[in-house]
Amino acid sequence: MTMPAWDCGHDRAILHVDMDAFYASVETLDEPALRGRPVIVGGTPEGRGVVAAASYEARRFGVRSAMSAARARQLCPEGVFLRPRIDRYCEVSRALMALLRGTTPLVEPLSIDEAFLDVSGCRRLLGSPPEIAADIKRRVRAELGLTASVGVAANKFLAKLASDLEKPDGLVVIEPGSGRERIADLPIERLWGVGRVASEQFRSAGLTRIGDLLQGDPAGLEQKFGPHVRHLIELAAGRDDRPMVPAHEAKSVGNEVTFAEDIGDAAQLRAICDELADKVARRLRADDLRTRTVVLKARYPDFTTLTRSLTLPAATDGGVEIRDAARELLERKLGRGRRPLRLLGVTAANLVHGHEPGQGSLFGEPGRERNQQVDRVLDQVADRFGPLLRRGTRPRSDPEKG
Ligand SMILES: [Mg+2]
Repeated sequence: MTMPAWDCGHDRAILHVDMDAFYASVETLDEPALRGRPVIVGGTPEGRGVVAAASYEARRFGVRSAMSAARARQLCPEGVFLRPRIDRYCEVSRALMALLRGTTPLVEPLSIDEAFLDVSGCRRLLGSPPEIAADIKRRVRAELGLTASVGVAANKFLAKLASDLEKPDGLVVIEPGSGRERIADLPIERLWGVGRVASEQFRSAGLTRIGDLLQGDPAGLEQKFGPHVRHLIELAAGRDDRPMVPAHEAKSVGNEVTFAEDIGDAAQLRAICDELADKVARRLRADDLRTRTVVLKARYPDFTTLTRSLTLPAATDGGVEIRDAARELLERKLGRGRRPLRLLGVTAANLVHGHEPGQGSLFGEPGRERNQQVDRVLDQVADRFGPLLRRGTRPRSDPEKG
């Protein structure tokens, strides 16, 4: 048996993880009656909107992203047309990114439903890159109920190209050194940076496949198509040394609510404050972040807005700690006998990644571990059924947001 090429340990190992028909798949996940039906997420066929995503069943009718919804209706009269629920997609996206960061912190999100992972350093621990890719696919299915396609290669360009080759539910591996032959016959539009204009130029010059760029004399091609073609020749040869750019960390995680009517009742405001704090803590845990500073924002009926902050003794993602800090800000810093409020917000700032040293269970307070268990249970319930179950009462929602 030959050793997998990656075991020699010299090449980078990059994964590109891309969810399949993401918006449409989330809709089907949340409404199982849609399974097997052509689901089209985007504008209404009556309006002037476009298709944001189409299930594979809809794609069989020729429906594609960015097509007008009216055209999609012509192609697929049986289609189930749904308006996008971006908040829900963002929620699933956060769960996806947290899952990926469970494999490696070297995650570079490209969009709401795709990311690069550099697993070069994970091989000894987690297995070969194809094994790691298979494991991620399995976990995405088990934990999110969705399918992803994954490309595995020695660089970003090849990994992204590979993830797209056998969609949906694909796993395509391009072994180091084999990229050039593997992509030679693909249409030239598959190269990053070849849009419609460049594509027409290449095709009118008889260059239709990626490999065609490697046949001619590079200097001649450059003269004909401009200096940009150098970069494309590199890609065509399967070379791409762009580094990973791990996620820019969120600077803060916040939540606020505008009331339908101004609220002056202290108990009611406290309950709303608790709920906002719980929601923030949950998002921190989902994103594997902890906060050092809790910020309370309050807006009065005359639109004066105050923010007050409290720095914690240690970074935390605990619901109880964040709630206590928010309550303290509400009760003490806003003063007693205060005026009614029209808006209240809780934000966690000064964030650190959960795995950074210095925020372990440093404190011996009794109850801390129990609180963490309660947090975990609430997270699991919310993950399965949506964030229905929270401590405290529900605030009245922002009338603009319905
Ligand atoms: Mg996708």
